[in-house]
Amino acid sequence: MFDAFRMKARTMIAPLMPNYNRIDLAFEHGEGAWLITADQRRFLDFGAGIATSSLGHGHPHLSKIIAEQAQRVIHVSNLYRVPQAETLASRLVEHSFADTVFFCNSGAEANEAMVKAMRKTMAETGHPERYRVICCDGAFHGRTLAMIAATGNPKYLAGFGPAVDGFDHVPFNNLNALRAAITPETAGILIEPVQGEGGIRPADLRYLRDLRATADEFGILLGFDEVQCGMGRSGKLFAHEWAGIAPDVMSLAKGIGGGFPLGAMLAREHVGRHLVPGSHGTTYGGSPLACAAGNAVLDVILAPGFLERIDRVGRHFWHGLVALAARYPSVFTEARGAGLMLGLKCAIPNAEAQSAALAEGLLSVAAGDNVLRLVPPLIITEAEVDIALAMLDATARRCLPVLQSMAAK
Ligand SMILES: *Cc1c(COP(=O)(O)O)cnc(C)c1O
Repeated sequence: MFDAFRMKARTMIAPLMPNYNRIDLAFEHGEGAWLITADQRRFLDFGAGIATSSLGHGHPHLSKIIAEQAQRVIHVSNLYRVPQAETLASRLVEHSFADTVFFCNSGAEANEAMVKAMRKTMAETGHPERYRVICCDGAFHGRTLAMIAATGNPKYLAGFGPAVDGFDHVPFNNLNALRAAITPETAGILIEPVQGEGGIRPADLRYLRDLRATADEFGILLGFDEVQCGMGRSGKLFAHEWAGIAPDVMSLAKGIGGGFPLGAMLAREHVGRHLVPGSHGTTYGGSPLACAAGNAVLDVILAPGFLERIDRVGRHFWHGLVALAARYPSVFTEARGAGLMLGLKCAIPNAEAQSAALAEGLLSVAAGDNVLRLVPPLIITEAEVDIALAMLDATARRCLPVLQSMAAK
């Protein structure tokens, strides 16, 4: 018998494809905002799986609902009704600008659905020539072929052939540049109300309001990517609520499933009605299990006082970070962000700051623009924020020798 396994040459590549720079740490379990290794080392998790583990680890309500639903039925496909998805969609509609919701499994897929919905809306309303979407420099919209084009970052596009056509880029927070980029081929605008990967950069609220007015003036669609800043992270359920305006369409993922893969595209009726049967779909999207997880997360986020608590704890953290940057201006130059989506702009390489924080027992995530991203689970307490601030103070002190050695070079 032909044995393909024996024919294979010896390779150097790891069985798990090495497409990430992984930190040499494995967590055996988690408790709230803490992750614990098999040898009982405890880390305070201010990365939350990249702003995804919104209820922290081992949350009793979320894990119970997931376990119960897994025993009943995990997946049935979208050939049938899925009551858990109907419930989750109704609740999202009730608490947002949207009239209708499409479920998928990730942020990139939610954004793909959003861009397809924008193009389809234009095509169905007599403007098939309007297919282009205006995005911002510093954006991140995901890793599919179309979303690396929407992201526009040369680092993510390199080597993958011609970028998918239909995305134009303008500087973030610059209304004039955006208005100047609108052409008769423009279908819509796609922006993050708070840029995440780009370096925790909030859009000015005035800019968001102006984008709404601009979209209306030109008859184009306004799309918000709230994959990272949505689902309570900013201290409101959706970050655009701070500006008092609403988009026509919005993507969600990351925190919406509390760590269980779930994405969503929320749309007003004038957009959503064009995704008729057969026009778009996904096998896994909106499964009983994923939507049970989403409903469990919503139970917690929509409980009275929960969002107000995020805002309060986030402000406490913010003041601590501002004070930290004032104490160590040669390490941290400023604090940025909103709610529990905060970052420290670093004067040293952010990777150095991240490793120093790790050495202090604090997990964080690097972001663009040399920012150290701090995105704890939304259940974080003020006491835990104080622990993180003490760890960050020690981190800054650890980084001072790095600075001296940099100066010596
Ligand atoms: C993470 C992220 C995405 C991509 O989400 P995936 O689930 O990794 O596909 C898209 N947009 C924003 C704003 C994100 O932060």
